[in-house]
Amino acid sequence: MELGIAGKRALVCASSKGLGRGCAEALAEAGVSVVMNARGAEALEAAATEIRAAHGSEVITVAADITTEEGRAKVLTAAGPVDILVTNAGGPPPGMWSDWDRDDFIAALDANMLTPIALMTALLPGMMERGWGRVVNITSQSVKAPIPVLGLSNAARAGLTGYVAGTARQVAPHGVTINNLLPGIHATDRAVALDRGVAEAEGITLDEARAKRAATIPARRYGTAEEFGAACAFLCSQHAGFIIGQNILLDGGAVNATL
Ligand code: NAP
Repeated sequence: MELGIAGKRALVCASSKGLGRGCAEALAEAGVSVVMNARGAEALEAAATEIRAAHGSEVITVAADITTEEGRAKVLTAAGPVDILVTNAGGPPPGMWSDWDRDDFIAALDANMLTPIALMTALLPGMMERGWGRVVNITSQSVKAPIPVLGLSNAARAGLTGYVAGTARQVAPHGVTINNLLPGIHATDRAVALDRGVAEAEGITLDEARAKRAATIPARRYGTAEEFGAACAFLCSQHAGFIIGQNILLDGGAVNATL
């Protein structure tokens, strides 16, 4: 399908690996000029080089921590006016409800709620002025069905979801859409880290932990960064202009709910 966004400019945060990279790659494939970001410069440059070689599109890299004010300033300055914003950052660590104090919550809110909000605050006015824009926030299936060991994530992402629900309806009259993509388990470094924790806790191998988790997913496998990126690119396309303020699960059927 022709997505109709060739020549647009996108900022894809936290995109040297995993789901962010999948989104950057799918947008580049659609002819979008992409600004990629991550903290580690080496992996970021490697990903950008591969994407340029594969799709021939312009790729700009900005090594910075997107969860800090200085990092965001650096990224926003390099990005300039963008038509498409994909927000993403690393997820908070797992634990028990009794493990976390105020500082832990502030860090989680900063990374997974206030950072996407700050990026939207900076970039929505330009999109509205130009009469076209797309924002996709990478959140989590934990928004629909809590993952008990990810209480920090459950809390921060719920806050972002509430913000998007209202804001998406305020910017929609200006041709700007905001939606959230909710990943279930995808085969990325993050999933390996979570599986390793389970393997250690249960005294099983990493492969056993992965197989055990895959068996709980109706699709019987983990998702891929490529299929996640394709869904993101569709939400950023000309065809998705009537999709406003939605929370779209990509979870292989893992969340057992009718709606
Ligand atoms: P990943 O494979 O670990 O990749 C994370 C990417 O984000 C890397 O490129 C990393 O590069 C970058 N990054 C992390 N923190 C950053 C920061 N502060 N500033 C800039 N870049 C940063 O993770 P993922 O699996 O793609 O997950 C992406 C998001 O989806 C996370 O929030 C995760 O919690 C959520 N999620 C993932 C899954 C899943 O199954 N994979 C499921 C539900 C939710 P650097 O480390 O070099 O910065």
